[in-house]
Amino acid sequence: NSARVSVLGLGAMGTALAAALVDAGHTTAVWNRTAGKAEPLVARGATAVDTVAEALEADVVIACLLDAASVREVLDPVADRLAGRTLVNVTTTSPDQSRELAAWAAGLGAAYLDGGIMAVPAMIGRPGSSILYSGSRAVFEQHRSLLDLWGESAYFGEDAGLASLYDLALLSGMYIMFAGFAHGAAMVAPAGVTAGEFAQRSAAWLSAMTGQLAGLAEVVDGGDYTVEGQQSLEFSSLDDLIAAAKAQGISTEPIDMVQNLIQRQIDAGHGKEGFARIIESIKHPA
Ligand code: NDP
Repeated sequence: NSARVSVLGLGAMGTALAAALVDAGHTTAVWNRTAGKAEPLVARGATAVDTVAEALEADVVIACLLDAASVREVLDPVADRLAGRTLVNVTTTSPDQSRELAAWAAGLGAAYLDGGIMAVPAMIGRPGSSILYSGSRAVFEQHRSLLDLWGESAYFGEDAGLASLYDLALLSGMYIMFAGFAHGAAMVAPAGVTAGEFAQRSAAWLSAMTGQLAGLAEVVDGGDYTVEGQQSLEFSSLDDLIAAAKAQGISTEPIDMVQNLIQRQIDAGHGKEGFARIIESIKHPA
């Protein structure tokens, strides 16, 4: 692949992204607000440029800055040079900020692809790293091989906000799972079980339980929560679990949240229907 690339922003992540490009043989120009951070990359084969304007000479310009505001701060002064350029922005932004940046780039005549990185810097280019994209399909397709150097690339559509939305949706699941792990660990702690011991068993259990997601999704997508073979909402009462947590003297907050989602559906008369129905409590806030 012969695309000339440039990377704006050489923090921990920008450095990892640039290193993968250099190692794959791309002609790579790097720029950072604070000079000096480019040195390790230059030793690896990158070229440090002093100005953002020089970085824009590349076929693909990658921005990995702090936030949406910093992207504008860096690119606004060279806005008149963005026409005809290709910008891949992997800076973390909200869905609306991604859409605003896409509209701003379109107004300047630049092609815009937004990316959400599902990895930490050490994972870039290694198994388990994935990056979610939305915005210009043409940019995604044309530069797919380059993007694949960082991890598994997934494209969600022309709406530039979708990658960020998807990213945040995945993080929601992650944080709630972490909170559930913490709750379980706190529950067994008074019994002398270490968090490390509990983590081992939890990892195996939670991994096995991910096998249930497809079945839940099938019910949700089918739109009929009465289909046979599901665990009912009534059967899913978490009273025992909450009582056990109280008996251990710990907070019941993480599990109360789930119990509330269940209870609202039972109260609305859906107790005999499947557990998947809790999504209705979420879609229709109390
Ligand atoms: P760092 O804090 O390591 O680096 C931030 C970078 O942004 C630096 O290059 C900094 O330049 C630059 N910067 C900040 N503000 C400005 C500004 N106003 N003008 C110009 N440059 C600016 O962050 P990361 O590299 O870890 O993260 C970069 C992006 O990647 C973030 O959006 C982050 O959310 C995202 N990301 C990071 C992950 C991670 O695990 N690290 C995971 C997933 C996404 P300077 O050196 O001059 O301060």
